Amino acid sequence: MKIAVLPGDGIGPEIVAQAVKVLDALRADGAKIEMETAPIGGAGYDAAGDPLPEATLKLARDADAVLLGAVGGPQYDTLDRPLRPERGLLRIRKELNLFANLRPALLYPELAGASSLKPEVVSGLDIMIVRELTGDVYFGQPRGIEVRNGERVGFNTMLYSESEVRRVAHVAFGIAMKRGRKLCSVEKANVLECSELWKEVMIEVSKQYPEVELSHMYVDNAAMQLIRAPKQFDTMVTGNIFGDILSDAASMLSGSIGMLPSASLDEHNKGMYEPIHGSAPDIAGRNLANPLATILSVAMMYRYTFADLATADRIENAVKKVVAQGLRTGDIWTEGTRKVSCSEMGDAVVAAL
Ligand code: NAD
Repeated sequence: MKIAVLPGDGIGPEIVAQAVKVLDALRADGAKIEMETAPIGGAGYDAAGDPLPEATLKLARDADAVLLGAVGGPQYDTLDRPLRPERGLLRIRKELNLFANLRPALLYPELAGASSLKPEVVSGLDIMIVRELTGDVYFGQPRGIEVRNGERVGFNTMLYSESEVRRVAHVAFGIAMKRGRKLCSVEKANVLECSELWKEVMIEVSKQYPEVELSHMYVDNAAMQLIRAPKQFDTMVTGNIFGDILSDAASMLSGSIGMLPSASLDEHNKGMYEPIHGSAPDIAGRNLANPLATILSVAMMYRYTFADLATADRIENAVKKVVAQGLRTGDIWTEGTRKVSCSEMGDAVVAAL
């Protein structure tokens, strides 16, 4: 198994180092893993003048899976748009054809107090959001800012082809089959033609999955229901922009953005695995970041790309154990628990493993 390790910027190198410790421990135990590191994002720009250097893309293409930290930082915000770190991320997703983004929102019982919602509303929460990642208004053409009738206008194009919707539908139905067999498709078909097509294709694909109960919800209602009664959801599937927003909202239900992993898959289950949070420049370089989302991303790598469910469970159980032991980085710390650094948390997970 070849893993391309792309730490990126800000806290990226610190949190990825902890995930690499976990992979090293598995290797010491006999796992056949090769790892190679390359720069991406601002680090890519600094090293090669490109947020996705050619050599990094080649390494990622040749690997079985990619482990990514995070990209971005205020020092890069004034670069020309194509040179900005986030463009490197969008490009690698597109180049590797990673069209299905899996974002679990899961609440550890010990962290119910860290959620902004009442414990009874969120305890036992276990949602999987499947977000389409390579289409929609983020990629649709035409796009731009131009002068019309003497003033500037900005415009983007929301666009989905039926094949794009169909392939993400199959991923979502497949995941729903392995979970609670309930899939909620989220769109805005009352206003948008693009959503109307999305809904039609979802209904077509659902005929191949008669065991899964498919429901439909407008995105504004879905945002409300996620806050009002999130446990009604099992698996959700939605387009790129709606999924971007809803999955961030869902992540806060579980307390900390530092706890949640993600996977982005292509048609052959090759994947890029990364925490959902960004590069957290406010705490970068201080050994304060929570590495658990990145470590849990490695568990997802074992589950979805390596199809080694036993090792995936083993990593997740090690994380559960350190949380149950009361170890907390600053973002999830509460009175009565033990505050640890990023590297101490990594060491504790390795010990629990
Ligand atoms: P962010 O996720 O980096 O940070 C939001 C808040 O959460 C900050 O207070 C931060 O300290 C905290 N936080 C995030 N991850 C944490 C962790 N592991 N442990 C403890 N606390 C954590 O989002 P932002 O501040 O909006 O963006 C900062 C930079 O990250 C920007 O340049 C943005 O473009 C980039 N970004 C990158 C990605 C990515 O690489 N996938 C995603 C989102 C934002």
